[in-house]
Amino acid sequence: VHSLRLILGDQLNASHSWFERRDDGVLYLIAELHQETGYVRHHNQKVCAFFAAMKGFAEALKKAGHRVNYLTLDDTARFESLPHLIAQYARDYNIANFDYQRPDEYRLKEQLQQLQLANGVTKRQWDTEHFMVDYDDLALYFPTDKNQRMETFYRKIRQRFDILMEGDRPVGGKWNYDVDNRAKLKPADIAEVPEPLLFSNDVSEIIERLERHQVETIGVATSQLLWPVNRQQSLQLLAHFCQHCLPRFGLFQDAMTEHGEQQWTLYHSRLSFALNSKMLSPKQVVDSALHHYQENPELISLPQIEGFVRQIIGWREFVRGIYWRRMPQYGQLNYFDASNQLPEFFWHGQTKMNCMAKAVGQSLDYAYAHHIQRLMITGNFCLLAGIDPDQVDAWYLGIYIDAIEWVELPNTRGMSQFADGGVLASKPYAASANYVHKMSDYCSSCHYDHKSKTGEQSCPLNSLYWHFMVRHRQQLSTNPRIGMIYRNWDRQSAEQQQQITARAEFCLANLDTL
Ligand code: FAD
Repeated sequence: VHSLRLILGDQLNASHSWFERRDDGVLYLIAELHQETGYVRHHNQKVCAFFAAMKGFAEALKKAGHRVNYLTLDDTARFESLPHLIAQYARDYNIANFDYQRPDEYRLKEQLQQLQLANGVTKRQWDTEHFMVDYDDLALYFPTDKNQRMETFYRKIRQRFDILMEGDRPVGGKWNYDVDNRAKLKPADIAEVPEPLLFSNDVSEIIERLERHQVETIGVATSQLLWPVNRQQSLQLLAHFCQHCLPRFGLFQDAMTEHGEQQWTLYHSRLSFALNSKMLSPKQVVDSALHHYQENPELISLPQIEGFVRQIIGWREFVRGIYWRRMPQYGQLNYFDASNQLPEFFWHGQTKMNCMAKAVGQSLDYAYAHHIQRLMITGNFCLLAGIDPDQVDAWYLGIYIDAIEWVELPNTRGMSQFADGGVLASKPYAASANYVHKMSDYCSSCHYDHKSKTGEQSCPLNSLYWHFMVRHRQQLSTNPRIGMIYRNWDRQSAEQQQQITARAEFCLANLDTL
């Protein structure tokens, strides 16, 4: 063996240039690692999905004639960490080169950068060949001396890759159709939501292995995993999305409901795991969606395709830029000095707040919640309740099928908690029950009253919203997008203000019982 090539669990890119040529002198290593199961408590389905996808990838590479070693937790248990494993392999196979693809997580990138190998072994870093924007170009798009806005970045990417453009102008004349994408689901709409494409991958062996190695996981374990674990299933899911969900993707993107069998998926693609494990590339996903749009103009309108494309080439690439240009400091930011404990119900979903019970419960069941549930239900609650962003991050990083730090951290700490003080978003996404009621049907069967702000029946979000605004007045009142909100507060009577504050203080002191 002249070269040992490491493939991490989120580097399952079959189109990588590594695999263009077969070479018996190259040994590929794919390993289930204890350090990866233990840096945070993961959802059981997430670990199963990664391990199943890694194993499948190793088998596909072998079939294509490459030399591959797949190591399970049983094989790697004796190695303290990834560097120990690599060092042992380097000795055993007497390698000349150690090759790895640049990890997308700071933690792993540091670990591999610091890895020392015996004299004579050359360490070489390769690109993952996955993202639209090259790692080395991130500095061009993301200067660190000013705050960044997704919209500016997105327009540049649309132009650069000539996506939905007519010359140098956006198709249809507008860059962004977000305002058209805020419909609530009515009962008649719910009946029309398409059935999701769910797989049935047998992961019982992996579950047994996790138990044998006492890997602590959260959420519901299912021996028949519904997530795609190989390229073929990922492509099927992409085709299913383009055909059945894309026609109404944008329209109901922000909607939430507790009714209907499909309420947990709605018109969302659920492609994030396939993308983040790199089984699919963003270019491939966007091309496929654009193709469907062009072939079916009567079914798929411009706001639908634009809304989808923006998520992939806009938001996804954007948060990655923020992450790499701002780490490691970004992971420590806590603009509001939030320090409250994450309530226990985040781990079991039992709370009288129906929106929270539904969003947390669904996350525990499926390792999935869609964007608005993450941002405006669980995220908003943590923001208003002043939860320590380290704890919020750990929860998000563990629970979701697609959670990898480069994408989880800017979304959680930045977008949802505003702990970066505005690097990523122009104002905190803080909302009272009014928003939840507007975008969902959660409030109608809730124990609390979404309309009232005071008294024990009042929705905690209402008083917590004002408490949050008032306690951070100094930091927020100069924000032009927020100033008006304070005028609303100032107009309320002293008695009303005092009652709202009292209710909020009760809620803050009793978060676990809400
Ligand atoms: P769809 O709604 O179908 O969107 C299509 C794709 O667009 C997604 O698969 C994803 O790749 C991309 N996308 C959409 N929004 C974003 C975004 N804000 N940032 C990056 N990509 C985006 N996404 C993750 O992939 N991993 C995470 O760990 C993660 N953590 C999040 C934490 C919080 C607090 C919030 C508010 C959002 C987070 N997101 C994360 C972004 C987004 O919620 C998920 O990508 C999306 O819900 C995945 O479901 P989907 O594939 O059905 O998405």
